[in-house]
Amino acid sequence: MKLVYLDNAATTKPRQEVVEAILPFLGERYGNPSSIYSIARDARAALDEARTKVAKAINARPEEIIFTGSGTEADNMAVKGVAYANSGRGKHIITSAIEHHAVLDSVKRLEKQGFQATFLPVDSYGMVDPKDVEAAITDDTILISIMHANNEVGTIQPIEEIARIAKKHGVLFHTDAVQTVGHIPVDVKELGVDLLSLSGHKFKGPKGVGALWVRKGVKMERYIDGGGQERNKRAGTENVPGIVGLSVALELAVEELEEEMARLADLRDYLIKGITDRVPNARLTGHPVKRLPGNASFCFEFIEGESLLLSLDAVGICGSSGSACTSGSLDPSHVLLAMGLPHEIAHGSLRLSLGHETTRQDLDYVLDMLPGIVQRLRDMSPLGEGISFSDSCECTPDEHSCVENCKYQ
Ligand SMILES: *Cc1c(COP(=O)(O)O)cnc(C)c1O
Repeated sequence: MKLVYLDNAATTKPRQEVVEAILPFLGERYGNPSSIYSIARDARAALDEARTKVAKAINARPEEIIFTGSGTEADNMAVKGVAYANSGRGKHIITSAIEHHAVLDSVKRLEKQGFQATFLPVDSYGMVDPKDVEAAITDDTILISIMHANNEVGTIQPIEEIARIAKKHGVLFHTDAVQTVGHIPVDVKELGVDLLSLSGHKFKGPKGVGALWVRKGVKMERYIDGGGQERNKRAGTENVPGIVGLSVALELAVEELEEEMARLADLRDYLIKGITDRVPNARLTGHPVKRLPGNASFCFEFIEGESLLLSLDAVGICGSSGSACTSGSLDPSHVLLAMGLPHEIAHGSLRLSLGHETTRQDLDYVLDMLPGIVQRLRDMSPLGEGISFSDSCECTPDEHSCVENCKYQ
């Protein structure tokens, strides 16, 4: 059967070049980078080279890169490490309601430990308003953490503007760039942030390896205790194979960035138009223009997201409902709820995330299969005539006002 993989926001297929770059480090190049003999120096050299590549890809300095065990770990390290190291100056943290749980739950843990938090709302596109950020800052604020782009709906946040506000008020600013690094241009100097998280498996690298960039001079407590690796910030023998793989994947992604962005955005818009044209009562979620090139996400009325995913899987289409981390739970996505979608509609969500292997034929297959599947599920649906979009609700990628027209009845 045909397999159409459209869940690249959950993970990506490692490139062949990445697999080949990793293999020697799983075998004969096994040295511990902290030792002193020649095979150890070989591993150290590979680690240094990987660090230089990653730094170059985001316009940072190699010594500012801390390799971690995942994007999740980088987020935890940034939020908790900055909070602990700066708690003498204040105990207030600002974040948004639509962050990945790696950030949200880190902030919630800090609340239990005596920190205060503000979870900023978003508009119906899933966009944070920089004015809300500024209004939330108090004398006690030590950290702002707002994601670069959302993993569920693909909305790209006004990071540069928020960074200017953070700087003006002397507050440190972290961004979770796990969805953007390797997908759209990410330059830490242009963004103006202080800390930035990334993850290998989201850009065709291996799983279980990520990185946190920490601008020189930022106070951050070490997160994992033990040896002196990663400039004493993250103890534990380095995952040399994973780090090498991540660096090769990122280097290649950045080389192809412009071309791939344009190709994916075209395909994305083709898919969005196809679905909103062919499936009645389907609505694009997220910003129509300021969105990731590979993200097409929707809500369908009178549909339950899990059933839709299973029916798509039965014809070889891999998609997701909300984020992979929370599928399996019956709660609708916290992101869609924060965007103001009612529970009933947030339940009927579908995220199709395009990637390097995606072709127009793949999308034509989806456009052939999806309308019939949605119709069949609706015919069987106990959800019946519930809440619905108004008749004027039609969304295409070039209609800036589409969400404004989508008032719920
Ligand atoms: C995937 C993802 C993470 C977690 O990264 P892992 O490496 O899978 O732990 C964090 N934030 C965002 C926005 C993500 O998409």
